[in-house]
Amino acid sequence: MPRPSWHAMKAGEVAGYLRVDPARGLDEAEAAARLEIYGPNRPSAAPGRSAFARFVAQLFQPLVLVLIVAGLVTTLLGEWVESGVILGVVLINAAAGFMQEGKAEAALLALARAIASEATALRAGMRRRLDATELVPGDVVILSAGDKVPADMRLLGGKELRMAEAALTGESTPVEKHLAALAPDTVLADRSSMAYCGTLVVGGQGTGIVIATGDNTETGRISRLIAQTADLTTPLMRKMNAFAQRLLIAILALATLTFVIGMLRGESFFDMFMAAVALSVGAIPEGLPAALTITLAIGVARMAKRRAIIRKLPAVETLGSTTVICSDKTGTLTENAMTVREIWTGGETFVVTGSGYSPTGSIEEGGEPVDEATILRETLLAGVLCNDARLVHEERQWRIVGDPTEGALLVLARKGGLDEVTLTSIFPRLDELPFDSSRQYMATLHELEGARIIYLKGAVEKLLPGCSSMLDRQSREMPVDVAGILAASVRMAEAGLRVLAMARSVVGADQSLDQVRIDGNLVFLGIVGMIDPPRPRAIAAVRTCHTAGIRVKMITGDHPGTAMAIARQLKIIDDGAKALSGRELAELDDSALRTAAAEVDVFARVEPEQKLRLVRALQANGEVVAMTGDGVNDAPALKQADIGIAMGLGGTDVAKEAAAMVLTDDNFATIEAAIEEGRGIYDNVVKFITWTIPTNAGEGMVILVAILTGSPLPITPLQILWINMSTAILLGLTLAFEPAEAHIMRRPPRSPAAPILDRKLLWRILLVSLMMLGASFGLFKFALSNGQSAEVARTIAVNVFVMIEITYLFNCRSLQRSAWQGGGWGNPWPWVGSVLMIALQLAFTYIPVFNEIFQTAPIDMQDWGLIALIAFCSFVVVEMDKRWQSRW
Ligand code: ATP
Repeated sequence: MPRPSWHAMKAGEVAGYLRVDPARGLDEAEAAARLEIYGPNRPSAAPGRSAFARFVAQLFQPLVLVLIVAGLVTTLLGEWVESGVILGVVLINAAAGFMQEGKAEAALLALARAIASEATALRAGMRRRLDATELVPGDVVILSAGDKVPADMRLLGGKELRMAEAALTGESTPVEKHLAALAPDTVLADRSSMAYCGTLVVGGQGTGIVIATGDNTETGRISRLIAQTADLTTPLMRKMNAFAQRLLIAILALATLTFVIGMLRGESFFDMFMAAVALSVGAIPEGLPAALTITLAIGVARMAKRRAIIRKLPAVETLGSTTVICSDKTGTLTENAMTVREIWTGGETFVVTGSGYSPTGSIEEGGEPVDEATILRETLLAGVLCNDARLVHEERQWRIVGDPTEGALLVLARKGGLDEVTLTSIFPRLDELPFDSSRQYMATLHELEGARIIYLKGAVEKLLPGCSSMLDRQSREMPVDVAGILAASVRMAEAGLRVLAMARSVVGADQSLDQVRIDGNLVFLGIVGMIDPPRPRAIAAVRTCHTAGIRVKMITGDHPGTAMAIARQLKIIDDGAKALSGRELAELDDSALRTAAAEVDVFARVEPEQKLRLVRALQANGEVVAMTGDGVNDAPALKQADIGIAMGLGGTDVAKEAAAMVLTDDNFATIEAAIEEGRGIYDNVVKFITWTIPTNAGEGMVILVAILTGSPLPITPLQILWINMSTAILLGLTLAFEPAEAHIMRRPPRSPAAPILDRKLLWRILLVSLMMLGASFGLFKFALSNGQSAEVARTIAVNVFVMIEITYLFNCRSLQRSAWQGGGWGNPWPWVGSVLMIALQLAFTYIPVFNEIFQTAPIDMQDWGLIALIAFCSFVVVEMDKRWQSRW
């Protein structure tokens, strides 16, 4: 069946075609039946890169190519065992990398999908929030600013609807939507009567009928063509790749040099070639790329467990360098559980009792409950009518659906004897101007006995300038007392209350909300003050951030007084500190803003658009900025910040799309936890590198020194491969599971420009490499001089090498502190890995097949004693080095 040209049909025709009443939506039974037919609204899993392509990619890494060449040449030379093992190792390495990378990729994709998308649909006449996967063709969906369009839709109605369609058309400027039917040949980008799945609503509101879901949507059809892959590269990995390239050139140069020197000394071509191979094979850290990916993947999974979902992998590293967190107040630092405590109207102050969302409690004046609250009526009424929240009583619990600020007003009205359900039916709503952080107020238009009345609620500073009169005690209009109102609002704000003003305007019967102007025609009704207590975990998290050298800045749309009071409770600021308001901020030029951004920690009445300037000013000061946001207008600042953080519960899809990290609990404490994990992950990468390089450097040096001194090789190329493969997997990788060290949040943030290995670690790597060289070379020579065979001497050399790696692994569990202050039993894997490694070494030494392949031979107890002693000494030396370094 050809697809109908939906955009060319009238909205009514589309509804008829899809058998739905646009005013009621589908019934649940019909929706369920259609879900059976069309399937869930999600693109079926797109094919990733083919397994074969991924496997081949593993082989085409420069370090691996060297091994392949070495394997092929040894084959040509007829060294079957050598070539077999070398090529075997190449395959094992590729298979391990292939599997681990595949797992990491799948885990990241799964996380990206875990951020569930919801949609508001009309079902059987009721608005319902549902999982976007439940939508079916014919569903009537309501779109508002910030939403990601959940399916392809023909628009039915809308107001100032603007969409960002870059995901589909590549065009980044938002396009306006209209409802009129278009010519059938209109191209996709110009179909203004349609909304396409995956595009973003950046302004206005609208409704539409779903015409296609899942794979049948335009984006579904495209995304099936493009393979989905998670980007697994980060700045650190790019740095490491560049390092690997340089390392390779150096190793090849050194191998060639060894070969030439050996030949000049008259050694055989074959021996020298094998020595050059041994050197390259030894010095190449084959395990490094896989270890990086795995450490990052484990870290990302750990963060997800702590409720921070990483959307962009580089954020994991940047988190560890964060120096400033700019956080919203409401819901992130505070509970977002609002309770009205005070009302001021007609010059009188009323106190509200009760707590939470339960409507038990009363409104009191001078300690006495107010019964017939005529004076309060208009303020309460405005709060109820200009309201999109619902109060529900379920399982003996009161709960609100919608914005807590609005929910608190419904509870308040009930305490004053007004019931929102009755009131909304008496005063039907004709139109609305939804709340928006930039506008800072909300307005609704109501019908009342032939007249029309607008109720408004919002920030005092926004509504008050538009008021010429206010209500007195008897609810009569009198000239507005600006000073009295401001004094009352400042008093409430300074007590930490969130302040909201109510106003109304009676308008002509032909007036609509589009024409509403706040210019002196409003009647001021009253103000309410509600508490929103700080989250206890946020208080602790702010303290931890401060000890970790991270500044916390509150950036809020709320009143400066409220912001300061809450910031003081959270200990973000001390008593003497000052706040900067959005208006003051607007007057600062860029350089003055840089100074202010450095000095001030509370920014109040800030419009979302100003957050972008603030992030830029902080970045110009050299800060690494994490910034939270939830609305559409926050998206530019989230993109600009080094780490944009979106709210998983209260945030819009637009903000989530722009963010590098999403908090599934909207809690500030989660940001602090993610930073701790970020620092831990980076530490683990550095620990792995510090552990692995001495092995490679030590092995390279063993070969080099042997050739330069004309000695037989203490370790053969095959044995080197054995050491590298078995220890990287059994020992090195266990460091990826190390928990963050206890003192990690008492350190200052890491500078992003700092090299991966500092001078202290470079020195340690050199020290351990030399110890490995000395121990293996020394014991090899010692055994030979005692008349042992070359096989026995080599077996001793390999064993001492591996045992030092084991003890050094325990050294590396903490790079600065003593080994016991590292992960301890919190990470059992180093212990498990060490036991397995020792078992493997016993096999390597005593089992005949191994002896055959690797040219090893059983060794005596005495030799083991010597090996253990040397390994223990190396452990002690490194621990002493740490102590000594701590005094640098
Ligand atoms: P943050 O940016 O920290 O989340 P916030 O939630 O207090 O702070 P906004 O939601 O932008 O910031 O609110 C700013 C102001 O707008 C509030 O101080 C209040 O006066 C007003 N306001 C908040 N919610 C509503 C609402 N639902 N209806 C009308 N006005 C509101």
